[in-house]
Amino acid sequence: MSRKPYFTECPRCGSHSFEHLSNHAHCPNCLHFEDYYEDTETCYGVARSVEIRNTKPAIKQKIEEKSDEINQCESQAS
Ligand SMILES: [Zn+2]
Repeated sequence: MSRKPYFTECPRCGSHSFEHLSNHAHCPNCLHFEDYYEDTETCYGVARSVEIRNTKPAIKQKIEEKSDEINQCESQAS
């Protein structure tokens, strides 16, 4: 989400008091309100992609450890 200027022109009343906060924007002049909450599905998708990105190195390390074990077993067998 790109950062907007803190105060902009209100889309409803045109006053320059439309205040942008991190999760909503509002106009104290006419009480116009916009929320920036993402829907549950989008939040889940973002959280899942972060989880996958953070667990990938651990999975890669486990695969490397297993392949080292296999290589050791093969070298002992021959
Ligand atoms: Zn307004």
